[in-house]
Amino acid sequence: MSDGAHLSFEFFSVKSDLGRQNVAAMCRQLDRYKPAFYSVTYGAGGSTRTSTQKLVMAIQNEGYTAAPHLSFGGDSADALVDLLDLYRSAGVYNVVALRGDLPSGVAGIGKLTHANELVSLIRDSFGDHFDISVAAYPEIHPEAESYDKDVYWLGEKFRAGANRAITQYFYNADGYFRFLDEAAKQGIEAPIVPGIMPLTNYQNLLRFSENCGAEIPRWLRWQLKQRSKDRADLVKFGIDVVTELCNKLLTGGAPGLHFYSMNNITVVDALCKNIDLAPRPE
Ligand code: FAD
Repeated sequence: MSDGAHLSFEFFSVKSDLGRQNVAAMCRQLDRYKPAFYSVTYGAGGSTRTSTQKLVMAIQNEGYTAAPHLSFGGDSADALVDLLDLYRSAGVYNVVALRGDLPSGVAGIGKLTHANELVSLIRDSFGDHFDISVAAYPEIHPEAESYDKDVYWLGEKFRAGANRAITQYFYNADGYFRFLDEAAKQGIEAPIVPGIMPLTNYQNLLRFSENCGAEIPRWLRWQLKQRSKDRADLVKFGIDVVTELCNKLLTGGAPGLHFYSMNNITVVDALCKNIDLAPRPE
């Protein structure tokens, strides 16, 4: 994808040199799609502070564009500014600003800082240097006070200076388009890019979805369950379903796609080959 349409791929951080080399090889393979960036997750409460940094640097050093995910976790504003300074010196221009979650079983982090405050900190400290993505939830964040309030807080992230939102994954395109309409009613005009989770593992998907509040439609759950003992069958079915979802989203006006690669790009690559990634204005 090119010329203003958004495409990005997400990796989770890895600890070893071999893991970093593997991710660099995946970037090499995906680069033909001309993504805006490769983002790297940040573990709850700063648990991947070093491994996220190292992977971001490895991606940059290979000549690709990295986008570190960031959250306050247990860190002070000064510590975050230092980290962002380091990223700026390494030529990083893109970040994904999040609140994060409290890691289960870890005490002492205290109050989580909302993402709009992180966006403000970045803008106040670095002006327009960084392109900032934030999170959005077409099926609504599990802790939201109400539908409208969740959209309102998304608006606050944009008013603080975010450039785009990337959504939690979903399998119901109508819910996404309704969310865009509701966002537009609250004056949000910035791009809200669908986050796409490939369907590759039934049990993992159930577990993730339980944690993050993403809904797996009943028909899809049954189909995946039925295929869960035959991985090749499940993957083939998953590629068909997600290709259809992506095409529906793009045809309906989605400003691009962000793929949760789960550090396995075989299926992501198959999806990108299937999908019409023609440029469209962001
Ligand atoms: P916020 O925008 O702060 O929202 C959290 C909740 O608080 C919502 O219910 C919202 O309605 C409400 N709210 C927002 N602002 C305020 C405010 N100022 N005052 C009162 N209420 C408010 N997690 C990780 O740990 N690491 C990652 O790398 C990571 N990457 C992600 C990438 C994407 C694209 C997405 C969609 C999610 C990611 N997450 C990650 C998960 C995310 O951290 C969690 O969903 C978290 O619970 C909320 O983060 P947020 O940035 O959306 O929070």
